[in-house]
Amino acid sequence: MTILTRDDCLKMDAVDPLKTYRDAFALPDGLIYLDGNSLGPQPKAAADLAADLVKRQWGQDLIKSWNTAGWFELPYKLGDKLGRLLGANPGEMIVTDSTGINIYKVLSLALGLNPDRKTILMENDNFPTDVYMAEGLLGQLGDEYDLKLVAGDDILDALTDDVAVVMVTEVNYKTGRLLDMKAIADKAHAVGALAAFDLCHSAGAVPVDLNAAGADLAVGCSYKYLNGGPGAPAFIFVAERHQNKAQQPLSGWWGHKAPFEFETRYRAGEGISQMASGTQPILSLAMVDCGLSLFLDVDMAQVRQKSVKLCDMFIELVESRCGAWGFELNTPRDAVKRGSQVSFNHSDGYAIVKALIAKDVIGDFRAPQNMRFGFAPLYVRYVDVWDAVDRLADIMESGEWQKEIYHARDAVT
Ligand SMILES: *Cc1c(COP(=O)(O)O)cnc(C)c1O
Repeated sequence: MTILTRDDCLKMDAVDPLKTYRDAFALPDGLIYLDGNSLGPQPKAAADLAADLVKRQWGQDLIKSWNTAGWFELPYKLGDKLGRLLGANPGEMIVTDSTGINIYKVLSLALGLNPDRKTILMENDNFPTDVYMAEGLLGQLGDEYDLKLVAGDDILDALTDDVAVVMVTEVNYKTGRLLDMKAIADKAHAVGALAAFDLCHSAGAVPVDLNAAGADLAVGCSYKYLNGGPGAPAFIFVAERHQNKAQQPLSGWWGHKAPFEFETRYRAGEGISQMASGTQPILSLAMVDCGLSLFLDVDMAQVRQKSVKLCDMFIELVESRCGAWGFELNTPRDAVKRGSQVSFNHSDGYAIVKALIAKDVIGDFRAPQNMRFGFAPLYVRYVDVWDAVDRLADIMESGEWQKEIYHARDAVT
């Protein structure tokens, strides 16, 4: 790519086929938001929906809303809708609980589906909760079970015929590295293992087709690129061929075959309903629809195309304008191997990110020295990339980041 000017960026924005979507988000004026990979911004439609939920559905209609406002059906309705974006068939996905809890469910289910195998295979630099949840599960199961952790690049080689399930995050939370889901699922099936995927940094960021990839199980967040709202419930996918063959162990009443019969003993619900455990946080769950509706309207190929350009531009501009200050790319340079985020390592990364935030460029920091920037094509413009790097260059040139106030650690980074 030749070096761009700010004017070039404005011209690219003017012809961007996705340019109208930015207006669907309630972004504060002047803010450059490069952290949609951690918490997506608010879709404007969320404010009205929240008001209706609180004032009418809860305030006026009270318990009737479980039926009249479709509260009980929400996990299924949202799951089917999200399934259209992620390549799942109706009845293969629900929106419920947190990603961590859903990881526990899919790993348990996988061990139940593949009962002669005792090994879970995962990537060693996965997002911690994925590994922690596997440890918690295996701690309950006894010594014959085993968690094998290998580097992301070694997953295929580590898929041997003792593995019950391999679970990887398609897009690495820190580096943005994109794994080939189909290649992993193919190899898993060839050795008799199941393939489970964490799509936290994929859903809404890159095109995903779970069934085309041959995925057996999957989970992911709705509050990152899908803009579902802080702590909004996650999703869980079970391919139809695996339904009704084993049980996940969080056998709460919502997963019962007849929840309103209030039977003494548990009987597993049919199909995806067995993945539900209990009463859902309706206020938060309902919000997921706002961000999701925007995605069902767009062409994910266009989203991907723009995402690649935004990330390429950011890498190029940081290296050409800030190269002297020791930023080291911590993301695959090859777009084919990258999600929708870019990381740079810098020994003073924490203070630099904080100084950038003070200049209205929001990125985040992941220990030990990873500065992370997410590029969500529905609201990030090309000119935002230019301006973000411009402000980064300013901070470095002036030494602004060295100020004491940027070095104190906050609880959330
Ligand atoms: C964000 C993220 C999570 C978050 O899990 P919670 O249960 O919502 O806290 C899990 N896994 C990965 C890979 C993530 O990126």
